[in-house]
Formats: sequence, C-alpha cells, structure tokens
Amino acid sequence: MKFLSIGGGKFIGANSHYLEIDGMGLLLDTGLDPHLDGIGSMPRFDLIQNKIVDAVFVSHCHHDHVGSLPLAIRNFPHARVYMSYVSSFLYTTLLHNAVSVMNILKHEKNISEYPLYTHDDVDIISFIIQGMKLEKEFKLFGHNNPQHGIVCTWHHAGHTLGAGSLYIHAKQGSVFFTGDICASNQFLIQGAHYPKKPVDVLIAECTMGANEETETIKRKNEISKFTIILNETFDKRGSVLIPAFALGKTQEMLWLVNNLKKKKLIPHVDIFVSGLGRAVSRIYDLTIEHACRIDDDFFFDDMEFSVIDSRDLLREGLWVKRPSVIIASSGMMMENTPSYWLAFKMMREARHTICFVGYTSEDSPSRVVLESKRNSKITMPGIQESVDRNCRVERIHFSGHSNRTEIVNMIQTINPSKLVLVHAGSVEALAWTVEKVRDTHPKMEIICPEVGVEYEM
Ligand SMILES: [Zn+2]
Ligand SMILES: [Zn+2]
Repeated sequence: MKFLSIGGGKFIGANSHYLEIDGMGLLLDTGLDPHLDGIGSMPRFDLIQNKIVDAVFVSHCHHDHVGSLPLAIRNFPHARVYMSYVSSFLYTTLLHNAVSVMNILKHEKNISEYPLYTHDDVDIISFIIQGMKLEKEFKLFGHNNPQHGIVCTWHHAGHTLGAGSLYIHAKQGSVFFTGDICASNQFLIQGAHYPKKPVDVLIAECTMGANEETETIKRKNEISKFTIILNETFDKRGSVLIPAFALGKTQEMLWLVNNLKKKKLIPHVDIFVSGLGRAVSRIYDLTIEHACRIDDDFFFDDMEFSVIDSRDLLREGLWVKRPSVIIASSGMMMENTPSYWLAFKMMREARHTICFVGYTSEDSPSRVVLESKRNSKITMPGIQESVDRNCRVERIHFSGHSNRTEIVNMIQTINPSKLVLVHAGSVEALAWTVEKVRDTHPKMEIICPEVGVEYEM
C-alpha cells in the first residue's frame, strides 16, 4: 500500500491524495486551494500522470475537496467518481459557482488561465458521478485488480450536508479516510458515525489542533452569547453580518436565527442570504430523507428570508437601512465574495456587527478583521486604500469540525497501526495532534505527509 499526497499534504490546500492499494489507484478528494489563484491552486496531477487512477472519491462538496473534480476527470478520463448520494445533488451547484467566480477573477485579477474549467465541463461529468448510500458496502474493480476488487463504504461524517468518510476493505489492509469530520451534533446535521470494523491505516483531518478554546465550548453558551450580540446590535439600529460558507454554515446559522425569532428571543428582523446559500438550502430540503438530519421536519422553504443579489452588494440595501441579519459567503471573506464587499461597506459604521462563526485561516481577510482594533484603519487584501473599522467584531464558535480532543478520542477509538494526519489548520495544529497521540500511543506510526513524497504504508 502506498500513499502520495498531490495537494494539501498535511495542511489545508488543494486537498487530494493518491492511494495505491491491492493494485488499484484511488484518488481521495480533488480540491482547489482557496488561498491561491490560477494554476497554483490546483493539485499536482502531474505527479501521478503515469499511474493508474481507477476511482476518484469526493468526501464532500467544499471547494478545497471538490473544486478540481472536472480537472481530475480531464486528466484521468477512465476513472469512476464516487461520492455520497446527497453530495451527488450538491456538487454541480458548487462547481458552477466556482466557474462563475473564476470568470469574474479572470478580468478583475487578470488571470489568463481562468476559468480552469467551464460550465460545460461541469455538466458533462454528471454522467460519470455515482452517488452512493451511506453505510452501504459497494465493490470496486480496477485495471490491475479485475477479479477480487476492494470493498468501500461511505460513513456519515457530520461535517456538512452530504459529507462522507470513506472506509476501504482490501487484502492489503483496511483504510479509513475521514475527509472533514465533526463528532458532535450541529443544529441540523448529526455527529459523525465511525466504522465498527478494524482500521489499519487512518487518514485523519486535524483542522482544529491549535484551537484550545473549542475543547470547552458549550453550544448552549455560544447561543446565549450570540443572542446577546444580536439584540445589542439591533438596539443600536444596526445589522449583523455573518460571513459563512454557502454549504453548511449558512444553513446552520439560518436555522438558528429562525429558531431565535420563533422563540421571540430576538425581534422580528429581516434575514438576508447571498445567492449560493439559498441554492444550497434548497438542496437541504430536497434531500431531507437521505441525510442524517436532526430536525427532519424543518424546511428552508417554510422560512422567511430574502436573497441579496450580487449586483446590490455595494448599494444601500434594506439590510443596512433597518436592523437585519445577513448571512453571506464566503466564511473567510475571501476577496470579491459577497461577505467581503458587505464587510467593506458595513465596517465603517459603529452600529453594525460582523460576527464570525466558523473556521478562519491565518492569511484570510477574516483574520485581518478579527485581529483588528475597533476605531482603527485596516487594509483589506485586494483594496489599496485603508478602511475605518468602527463596527463591532465578534467571534462565536459553531464549528463544523471535530474539536482537537474529539479528533484524539477518535484516533484512540479507531486505534489504527498507522496514522496519516492531513488538513491541519496550522503548524501548531499538527504539532499538538502529533504530540498528543505520541503520549497515549507511543507505538502508533504517525505520518505527516509532504506533497509529492510517496509513503510505503
Ligand atoms: Zn469542509
Ligand atoms: Zn476542508
């Protein structure tokens, strides 16, 4: 068995890993690096150009896991593509949006190679995507393994709608690839289901390894804090901007705000969502019977909210004229996204609040805002002139990832002989996880993979 990361490696990036097992070549995730532009944001498909790729597995439909799928298929046209049944409803919406964003960036940032793929490329791949039911085994055969094959199962990963963790049973051993995973229940999605069978090699994410505070955070306390922030902002006739990933966090926050309104814990304010968030919410409704949901009679269609048209982002919309909640992508306020432009506009006014609720990476615009002081001037990436940051900025933790103790507990429960740590949020996140596992399991082999280095498993 061999493992070769072609993107991301031990850190978050264009997550994509090549696994050779029982003579078969499997590609685990095909992401694009959200922090980079152009060709540099792609996985290194050239590293496996001479290898066989029998199958591509997509753990979930976040950009850093699915964003380069059409390119992977262009490189390996004979590979079959597997994802969860629910993800097979989601990927086209997310990939079409990626094409639209690339088309905008082509002109605004002068990136000649954009778009890396077209709307047609996204439509064409629908013929080879296979959406599989969770917890159900399926057999796969390969070019060099036409007889025995391997047996695969998607398990519910808890991270977002459709997110799956992949279990592989092969002659050379068993592998469990977590993808992005969340052990605890969120508002809408149940916590992860781990496989009951033995695992030889565990490929685990460790995004939150550096976040000590998330270990002790109670959802109940965060909800109370969030409710106070909303009410204090509305009292000043301000609005609350919540930058959120369009898949997952947007729907979790929509559910929460709706719930607080229903319980009359906040006034009856307007709720606005950016366009992609609404398209994904419809898929939450559409797939309700097939997803591991908590509240399975809640439909976004029954909820009152309006969609912000991207052309209206810099105008004096209703959302700044009267107290409102605005849930807009992207979660890390990447350049030229709705949350980026809304923050740019709202930041100057003291009555507004920007409330971060999910993961933010070190070099993202969200960190610039989070780490800035009130009533100071800040420089937003991509904008020459500095901006006055007079608004309130808050941080609430509603993570869609396991906290670091949950990751270590998962490793102890699964107890593999080899552990491959991927998708670390930072150098510190990786170092903490390695040290913690070494303390409790001194004999466990731990691999922190570098992109382009092949590891014998
Ligand atoms: Zn994710
Ligand atoms: Zn991820």
